[in-house]
Amino acid sequence: MDIFDGHVHTHYCPHGTNAEISAYIERALQLGYSQISFTEHAPLPDTFSDPAPTRDSSMAIDEFRSYIEELKDYQRAYAGRITIKIGLEIDYIEGHEEETKQLLSELGPNLADSILSVHFLRLKDEWFCLDYSEKEFERIIGRFGTTEAVYDAYYKTLEKAILSDLGPYKPKRLGHLSLVSKFQKKYPSSYDSTRQMLSLLPLIKQKGYQLDVNTAGLFKPLCKEIYPPETILHTAANMGIPLVYGSDSHHPSDLGRGLDALDPAILEHLIKP
Ligand SMILES: [Zn+2]
Ligand SMILES: [Zn+2]
Repeated sequence: MDIFDGHVHTHYCPHGTNAEISAYIERALQLGYSQISFTEHAPLPDTFSDPAPTRDSSMAIDEFRSYIEELKDYQRAYAGRITIKIGLEIDYIEGHEEETKQLLSELGPNLADSILSVHFLRLKDEWFCLDYSEKEFERIIGRFGTTEAVYDAYYKTLEKAILSDLGPYKPKRLGHLSLVSKFQKKYPSSYDSTRQMLSLLPLIKQKGYQLDVNTAGLFKPLCKEIYPPETILHTAANMGIPLVYGSDSHHPSDLGRGLDALDPAILEHLIKP
């Protein structure tokens, strides 16, 4: 099987592992990958302070140059064996659109493939990291009032992300669309996420965006579900929205995860990022 993976992290991410990038590439070759996109968490705008309790959401801006250079070396070393794309996972941060646009205008020319994700939720003048931990999620629920209010804020932020003007380097692919469900087994919600996501699909289609078929959620003990779930992916596929597999690996052993769990009808629709 010809595998392409559009969502892979590296040792440049402070919450990941120290595995060498070569270990990811070697593992990808073993699995039969023909293409891999490295999409490290982009540096945050300097006006924004990382709300994750350990402040380790993304790579430091002064590491960006070596990230690009290291990956370029691997592109040369593995030319003809696997296609390596250099990208970033960019955060949509409500209230920091201009700064993000500015950052993208500086970093964007180096990037061949990127993802736009919502990890941060705004409540008035405060931001929270949605997927940091179960405990942090509980604190967020406390601040927003109810689990439903957190879900609602997430999907409203997602819509803003889709509509936002982040300039010519705005990523074309939306990361883990249902990330707010990461802790759903512990904090169930009566919120109708399916309806919300279905209502966003026409907008995603109109904008020409792709969806990250992110299997990481399947392996989160409190989630056990693909981001987004297959019903959404089936509808998206039928609408002609391009789907890109994303292992969201933070370690070489994560590569290829969840592919065997995907519905053959979805597998058939996966495209090269
Ligand atoms: Zn990460
Ligand atoms: Zn992410």
